[in-house]
Amino acid sequence: MHFHQLAELYAELEKTSSGNKMREILSEFFKTVPAEDIAVISYLTLGQLASDNDDVVMGMADKSVLKAIAIAGAVDQSKVSKLMQELGDAGLVAEKVLQKKPQTLIPLEKLTVKELFETLHKMAGSIGTGSQDSKQNLLATMLQKSSPQGAKYITRIALGTLRMGVGDMTVLDALSIAFTGNKESKEILEKAYNICPDVGIIAETLAKHGIKAIEKIDIHVGTPIKMMLAQRVDELHEISDKIPGEFTVEAKYDGERVQAHKNKKGKITLFSRRLENITAQFPDLVEWLGKYFHADEFVLEGEVIAVDKNGHPLPFQTLMQRKRKTEIEEYTKKVPVQLKVFDLLYLNGKSFLHQPYCQRSAQLEKLLKKNEFIVPTEKINTENIDELEDFFHKMLKAGYEGVIVKSRAEDSEYQAGSRGWNWIKWKKEYVTEMVDTFDLVVIGAYHGKGKRSGTYGALLCAAYNEKEDTFETLCKLGTGLTDELLEELPKKLAKHKVERRPARVNVKKEMEPEVWFEPRIVVEVMGAELTNSPIHTCASGLALRFPRFIRFREDKKAEQATTSTEIERMSKK
Ligand code: ATP
Repeated sequence: MHFHQLAELYAELEKTSSGNKMREILSEFFKTVPAEDIAVISYLTLGQLASDNDDVVMGMADKSVLKAIAIAGAVDQSKVSKLMQELGDAGLVAEKVLQKKPQTLIPLEKLTVKELFETLHKMAGSIGTGSQDSKQNLLATMLQKSSPQGAKYITRIALGTLRMGVGDMTVLDALSIAFTGNKESKEILEKAYNICPDVGIIAETLAKHGIKAIEKIDIHVGTPIKMMLAQRVDELHEISDKIPGEFTVEAKYDGERVQAHKNKKGKITLFSRRLENITAQFPDLVEWLGKYFHADEFVLEGEVIAVDKNGHPLPFQTLMQRKRKTEIEEYTKKVPVQLKVFDLLYLNGKSFLHQPYCQRSAQLEKLLKKNEFIVPTEKINTENIDELEDFFHKMLKAGYEGVIVKSRAEDSEYQAGSRGWNWIKWKKEYVTEMVDTFDLVVIGAYHGKGKRSGTYGALLCAAYNEKEDTFETLCKLGTGLTDELLEELPKKLAKHKVERRPARVNVKKEMEPEVWFEPRIVVEVMGAELTNSPIHTCASGLALRFPRFIRFREDKKAEQATTSTEIERMSKK
């Protein structure tokens, strides 16, 4: 497919602010895409160069992009810099500069989507000395080969600022309509996506082999599985209603969830809760998993925590020092960790997703050689709530944040990507403050006044409506933001700024922010109570009163925020 066709799609998408219309446009377009291009087009439309977990980073400096535009348009660099100051978007600069492209530079051949994609990967793969120059020259060639409109989008893709407002779910919806003629198949696609959350693989499988092949999609070792999450209850005794019979009570550790994959070749890859590849951060975990977990091929899960010399847990903030791209070796020594393993999802060619929890964890422990670095979770099996409570207090004393109660029943399968009742969390905050926090998505901001002028005074925060794939506002957040944080905010949010309301965002006129953001950044917020409110859109009108910022949840994607359904359920209680 020629790239100019894709650029025309983007121009059309850019004009719409309705999520439904967006799906319609996309599905009509997908019908025209050759099967061999559909994966690439899915990634590009999401503004990505590959699936999130593939760790392909363009790493192109703004300066190099502007230089590439100057080369492509055969104009002086100072002119490009001036235009950048005026327009504030390198995409628009490229479009403008290339409108005046001299005749001699008009391309003889047309740019295809495949060629563009391969070149973008070549650019991403270019590292070390001279890499900025080489990226810049490759980009200039792509810009020369495209129309001015195409150049606008190529520039944005290179900078990671395409922001079409399209999310993975939008693509799945559109694929479902395009290839099966109805929206109903979306459930099948979603189920497959939970096990293999790579839109490109799903799109290509569907286009090439149809919906039957999607039903058969299984674990791809090396592609993360969407993680199962825990529900919450208000009263401890409710747990017996939700999980009748015997359950396992495990310590809830305040660390980072890790999903470890080992393929047949022995390669070990680690994924975070956001399904990002975090292997490079934990060379120690990789080594131990190879040494102490006896299986040729596996997918297992655990929580990595920072520990002191005696193996006692250290705060989450200590572990966060391991989130880095440099000085890895130094910090591996400085911040020792331990992996508390609890689940086995795949073993030697066989998926364990549909096995009951007791069998999955028993098999996991059987294969684990005794050592002090990778250890099973502390746990008890019981059906007694008093015993559960005793264990909970014991875990708090040991320095953990609570417990997770897990069903051991026949149907206690691993519910990839969902927050089901097979796991229920009980945390210390529930007992001490009787509140839990909300993880909300920043979708807009209001300019600050007085002391806060020059930064944002408040952020507009939204919950995720997982049924509609939209973001619904719940509160305006201004409290709890320290001076330091306020200073950092404009820079942190700049990358996600968009001109208009993103299509999947649902906001009442009264709450319209002064600045819009693509839903990307998640913040943890504490609030006093949920009340009815006609000015918010969450669950048809709920607001969080007296919201207070607690921290950024870098480990969560927008679609992993607290859902409108959960908030509605909490408000009813
Ligand atoms: P929270 O903000 O309470 O951590 P969350 O939304 O991040 O919640 P939950 O579904 O509430 O996630 O809790 C599950 C998380 O708890 C897991 O993602 C994992 O990181 C962590 N965890 C700690 N100990 C365990 C355990 N024993 N079993 C499963 N998950 C655990």
